[in-house]
Amino acid sequence: MTSSLYVHIPYCNTVCTYCDFCKMYYNPEQVSKYIDQLKKELIEVYHQEKLKTIYIGGGTPSCLSEKELHQLFSTLKLVKVEKETEYTVECNFDSITIEKLELLKNYGVNRLSFGLETINPKGEEYLGRKNDLEHIKKIISYAGKIGFKNINIDLIYAYQNETIKTLENDIDFLLSLEPTHISTYSLIIEKNTKLSIRKEHQIDSDLDYEMYQLISKKLKQAGYIHYEISNFAKPGYESKHNLVYWHNENYYGIGLGSSSYHNNQRITNTRSITKYLKGMYHLEIENLDEKDKMIYEIILNLRLLKGIKKEDFLKKYQKKLEEVFLYQDLIKQGLIKEENGYLKIPEEKLYISNYIIEEFIYGKE
Ligand code: SF4
Repeated sequence: MTSSLYVHIPYCNTVCTYCDFCKMYYNPEQVSKYIDQLKKELIEVYHQEKLKTIYIGGGTPSCLSEKELHQLFSTLKLVKVEKETEYTVECNFDSITIEKLELLKNYGVNRLSFGLETINPKGEEYLGRKNDLEHIKKIISYAGKIGFKNINIDLIYAYQNETIKTLENDIDFLLSLEPTHISTYSLIIEKNTKLSIRKEHQIDSDLDYEMYQLISKKLKQAGYIHYEISNFAKPGYESKHNLVYWHNENYYGIGLGSSSYHNNQRITNTRSITKYLKGMYHLEIENLDEKDKMIYEIILNLRLLKGIKKEDFLKKYQKKLEEVFLYQDLIKQGLIKEENGYLKIPEEKLYISNYIIEEFIYGKE
């Protein structure tokens, strides 16, 4: 059963220095054709299930004109939704307007996800972004006024020359906006980004860790629950769509560079707009056997503070976790904890989660 849909809108007004997402400059002559193609792909893959989550990401969906947004949301009326369906759209403050907010609301969108990243002028310059604080406050306040109760804001930290003080200032501003969800990203300099071409470096790992701890402490003090390595939410506002990924459940993904997981296949779409517009959607199809699926189950679920429920694993795979993975040594070392039927990485060890997950899957007793 597949009951989640991701839709990728690859257009952006500017290109951030750290970005390795599938994106391109906004091209008004192409957007309408792109949405037509999205419609064809949707009709091809979607099997009329009622969707419990829809997530429109990018790129920057909010950089589309109102006319293009109408075209996009009319297309998405093809899918069946329920009253409780979580319907998210990613927005950038520089392209969202009062009129676009109203349009999203009228089409049933009920969750907004904004990229703030930093308000430190030096950080903005480094990341290739620009924030207008008065506009941000106005947009958040108007969104609340017209009934958006569920708002995520993204924060980036650990970039060159950032200090604990500027990070604290970013967090304070972010908290003053009272979002229900906060996603935090420690900057990674990925290949082929403007930062990597400029030969920029990651910051010192001790400072990165200090920043991670500060974020976690301040957000928890402000009433947010740390529920995934990089994500915090007010109680009841965890991202349902992202939980589908972390619980290793099926989802459709349509659009340039998107990925899907259904029918025991992980499918990655092409990043070539020329191929995509010709209907040649797929770049790679990974056929998963039972062991592959179990490995994904671990990689994704252990990102959650709650961890993986042993009983759910048994129900899903008819095998006990301990029959498949040799993790007893990790328990002895205090890197995995067993609690109330769940296996999890203790919060203070999340910082080395990649190492722990790898040991969990491939390590020996
Ligand atoms: S980070 Fe977001 S807004 Fe910036 S270029 Fe990448 S997709 Fe576009």
